Amino acid sequence: MNPVIVVEGRDDTRRLREIYPDIETIETNGSAIDEETIALIQKALQTREVIVFTDPDYPGTRIRNIIQERVPGVKHAFIEREEAVRKDNHKSLGVEHASTEAIQRALESVHEISTETGEPVISQATLMALGFIGRPDSATRRQKVADFLKIGHTNGKQFSKRLQLFGITEEQLRAALEAVLENEEKMNEIKDIATPKRTREIMERHGLTVKKSLGQNFLIEPNILTRMLEVAGVDKTTNVIEIGPGIGALTERLAREAKQVLAFEIDGRLLPVLDETLAPYDNVTVVHRDILDVDLEQVIGEHFDINEPLLVVANLPYYITTPIIMNLLESKLPIDGFAMMMQKEVAQRMTAEPNSKAYGSLTIAIQYFCEASIGFIVPKTVFNPAPNVDSAILVLKRRENPLVEVKDEAKFFALVKNSFVQRRKTLWNNLAKAYVGNGHTKESLAAALEAAGIDPSRRAETLTIEEFARLSDAL
Ligand code: SAM
Repeated sequence: MNPVIVVEGRDDTRRLREIYPDIETIETNGSAIDEETIALIQKALQTREVIVFTDPDYPGTRIRNIIQERVPGVKHAFIEREEAVRKDNHKSLGVEHASTEAIQRALESVHEISTETGEPVISQATLMALGFIGRPDSATRRQKVADFLKIGHTNGKQFSKRLQLFGITEEQLRAALEAVLENEEKMNEIKDIATPKRTREIMERHGLTVKKSLGQNFLIEPNILTRMLEVAGVDKTTNVIEIGPGIGALTERLAREAKQVLAFEIDGRLLPVLDETLAPYDNVTVVHRDILDVDLEQVIGEHFDINEPLLVVANLPYYITTPIIMNLLESKLPIDGFAMMMQKEVAQRMTAEPNSKAYGSLTIAIQYFCEASIGFIVPKTVFNPAPNVDSAILVLKRRENPLVEVKDEAKFFALVKNSFVQRRKTLWNNLAKAYVGNGHTKESLAAALEAAGIDPSRRAETLTIEEFARLSDAL
């Protein structure tokens, strides 16, 4: 029997006729369906099969619901949102944009909607146990299973109603969920580079050996990347700079979860590897450069809209951790935050408190610009090759204004550096060596210390950043 298709407008009819030249349609012409159209559909249903095929958006769903209510007995065909999006303009959605295969698939798997009411067949407790409600990822899970079952997108409340309407049994729902999860697992397996097997396979295929001199320790544990992206706060609104993409383990995850990624890699041997591992993504640019040699302001200006959030996320080459970070901080680039893997001891120095062994000039340099914390500790066993020491993720959030206000930044940083030259000596010893005869006398140095209210017999590691700032201004 030749069905009649209810569509929203002329474009849909035209599109369907490209595939089925003789097809008959009834056009609703907008979301306020009139009595005449309802009467037409009722009449068609007396002798023909009628399939409602509206757009997968709110107006389309509204028309569908009105027709279902007024003319029970019609059948329904659904198309997924991604299939109905216009390729060159993602804001435009409609059946007319869908591919021939998608339209054929939809019309071949029509549903009859049951109008029986009563208690939901699948209980809330079951839906909760299956993760369709009550979990952070429930909405995504519902959407994927709804797509799989071709029952259209719904919110939480509508989901169980929709299952009932379409007569989906608990068994069918469980089977659909299993299929969706299995598929997801397969996708992850294919995509994750950070596994021992995939890393080995990629390196062997490209005949790669690691260069220790470039700090090449590749991550082989995907969970570390998941947590890293979490503490970094990466999402589809953020642009990311990566330093040292290696074979693409972190880059690939960033490509999936960030807006745009710009990665700097010094080792030319890795470029063909990255070409291959990042091939599925059009939001990644790899630049073959030494990060310490790049005019970052220019490159960043070329690649990103500087009004959008910008993060640095990287598993750093450990031999140049400090210069990389200091360059980025001193550059005054519009970077909002950093999440960087580094040697654990270095991360501890950057987050240290006064009166601790780890507290020093690096602590002050970092905390002057940023709020610093350790995201989590990373054992050495999750790298290939394993480094000699454990690592940590350092998380930095740039302060709007430096932690302390000083008259002369360069003088402040020089003072901090000079104070820590010999940690075991007193502040007086270190400062006298650096300043007396060098623009200062013993008396003027003592006067500055007194003006700042600092006892010269203290050691540098006992001074807070505020005290260093006071002393710098008094010098
Ligand atoms: N991101 C990869 C991962 O997590 O598995 C690799 C990280 S590995 C610790 C450091 C990477 O930085 C290596 O790929 C290395 O070649 C690269 N690298 C070393 N020095 C660099 C420099 N000066 N500029 C840019 N990249 C550099």
